[in-house]
Amino acid sequence: MHICFLDIDGTLLLTGGAGQSAFADTLSADFGIPEIDANVGFAGRSDKAIAMDLFRSHGLEPSEQNWRRFREGYLSRLEKALVAKQGSVLPGVPRLLQALADRGDVAIGLLTGNIREGARRKLSHYELWHWFPFGGFGDEHMERCDIAAAAMADAQRHLNGRSAAATANGATNRQILVIGDTPHDIHCGRSIGARCVAVPTGNSPAPVLRDAQPDVLVETLENFEPILAILDR
Ligand SMILES: [Mg+2]
Repeated sequence: MHICFLDIDGTLLLTGGAGQSAFADTLSADFGIPEIDANVGFAGRSDKAIAMDLFRSHGLEPSEQNWRRFREGYLSRLEKALVAKQGSVLPGVPRLLQALADRGDVAIGLLTGNIREGARRKLSHYELWHWFPFGGFGDEHMERCDIAAAAMADAQRHLNGRSAAATANGATNRQILVIGDTPHDIHCGRSIGARCVAVPTGNSPAPVLRDAQPDVLVETLENFEPILAILDR
């Protein structure tokens, strides 16, 4: 059994900045920060790491209490932001997911810095949530490699609940694939021994991704034959 992990923002979809907008509105309305520090990077990072950096940068305590308060405010604004910003599913995504599912030997999951409930709302908004029965999320972990380890643990839980044949096959023939749009995705993929596919449909242009040495770089996920080919290599 293969395991394919996908990133969300810049890989499966573009929210048109809905996530960042909900971040900014929460910091403004709930924490009195009118404008967020533009030097804090969002792409490829966990929601918790971004929020903690913003707290520090604006003189707030990076505490669990502030994180919980922020999380609640962010989720309460996310759906409205998703509607207002009108993003889109990236080209080739539904066909790639269908092609992976049609093989019958690939378990599909998420490896994302989004908090789980944020991921669910973003993907539900674009009717993609049903594809992902397991994954690793940015609720607890700051580092993406820790999210990758949690994603692997969740994948194993998911696969062990399946038929004996699938489990036996999984034990001998497991191959892990990580698909993402930033060097962070490739780096964390390596940390769990995965092969990595990079796609420059988010914030990182192709030369930046190439420097991070993915196994395959495709211009968009419409070109999914090289991705399927990795699974059989
Ligand atoms: Mg991304």
